[in-house]
Amino acid sequence: MTKFLPKKTLLLAGAGHAHIGMLRRLSAARLKASETIDADIHLISEQPQTIYSGMLPGWMAGHYQLHDISIDIKSLCVRAGVRLIQQSLVQVNAASNKVVTTGDEQTDFNYDVLSLNTGADTDMRWLRDHNGYNEHKSDSDDRDVGAVNTYANTDVIAIRPLSTFIIQWQQILKAAQQSEKYQLAIIGAGAAAIELVMAAQVALRNINRNHQVTLVCGQNLLSGFNSGFRQRVIKQLDRHDITIVRERATDYRDGKLSTTHKSLPINAVIAATGVIGSAWTASTDLEIEGDGFVAVNDKQQSVSHSNVFAVGDVATRIDKYVAHSGVHSVHGGAIEADNLLAYLKESVMKSYQPKSRTLYLLSCGDKYAIGSWGNLNLQGRWVWHLKKYIDKRFIEADKG
Ligand SMILES: Cc1cc2nc3c(=O)[nH]c(=O)nc-3n(C[C@H](O)[C@H](O)[C@H](O)COP(=O)(O)OP(=O)(O)OC[C@H]3O[C@@H](n4cnc5c(N)ncnc54)[C@H](O)[C@@H]3O)c2cc1C
Repeated sequence: MTKFLPKKTLLLAGAGHAHIGMLRRLSAARLKASETIDADIHLISEQPQTIYSGMLPGWMAGHYQLHDISIDIKSLCVRAGVRLIQQSLVQVNAASNKVVTTGDEQTDFNYDVLSLNTGADTDMRWLRDHNGYNEHKSDSDDRDVGAVNTYANTDVIAIRPLSTFIIQWQQILKAAQQSEKYQLAIIGAGAAAIELVMAAQVALRNINRNHQVTLVCGQNLLSGFNSGFRQRVIKQLDRHDITIVRERATDYRDGKLSTTHKSLPINAVIAATGVIGSAWTASTDLEIEGDGFVAVNDKQQSVSHSNVFAVGDVATRIDKYVAHSGVHSVHGGAIEADNLLAYLKESVMKSYQPKSRTLYLLSCGDKYAIGSWGNLNLQGRWVWHLKKYIDKRFIEADKG
């Protein structure tokens, strides 16, 4: 007698870069009937569409419309044969193979295999009033990152989640248009902060002649990049007349941004201050490392629960340092997708070995970009067009 095994449930949480790749792969497989996956697949996503971070500065600078930088997750799910659960993940209980989501109501979902690609939150621990963290921090507090990242200061705009940021950016533009003088500060020292500050400068220049954009970046500007690349970036910041404050920001209230030694009159503050694990990581039984990231091995598999996988900014590799970036979410995600399918079929999994050099292209606001590939640096309008070509290839992959 043939015994039919019940279908397994594969739950994908978050429509990050890796899961977009997975949905595209499932959709292509369905079209060609090439890959059979014996599982019910569900995707938990807060939004029916997702904003592509790589093109966000280009949208701010006016080079793209919002629809140019959005990916339609709802239709992608339909094409991939995946059920979309439009809710937010709030809890992962790995011991009982269960996640909890919120939307209109709180719901529990059971899974056989779980894949996490929910990204991370903006690290707001630099703010003096973020739940009293600085005053009460002890070594044992480090694990409780979800709790410490909550902050009361709603005047500071965090770059993540991007869906909220795009609304707040439009409010900034409106306020800048209506103000006689407008002063904006971007806080952060990484590539995202640099792209944002130059995009903001280009956008504000077009609507308010009497404005000033300031980058507050501390002492470690672009610390992961070579010094030649850093010098090129500084020249571009200079070309754009951006004020650089090499001090740490500590607080913002009543229109004043406090840094280590200064108090600057500022109308709005955007924080691109690195990433920290999302609130749900504070209460999960999955093994968590560092600032709230799911600890994974080279297969992108949780080190504590073998039926849970995580990739992109939500995860951290325990065997080697892999930067949190879209590039690694895409490439790690392709291997992770293979491994999810291999795990379901009980076959051999692959290891994700990042390339030693990654091409990084940084847009400079006005259709000009700087690139780095290992020790090689490039710049020019053609680099911006190369970036545009690569970004569009990613975003339009399923537009036929
Ligand atoms: C302005 C800017 C420019 C950047 N440019 C580059 C670049 O050029 N190259 C590069 O490599 N990196 C770049 N980065 C970094 C890059 O954006 C991140 O490293 C990358 O987005 C991480 O991808 P991810 O797949 O982990 O998740 P994300 O892209 O962050 O996606 C996570 C998704 O999960 C959803 N989600 C979050 N929480 C939940 C939840 N609880 N429940 C359900 N859904 C949830 C989110 O809404 C989102 O759709 C940039 C970042 C910024 C801010």
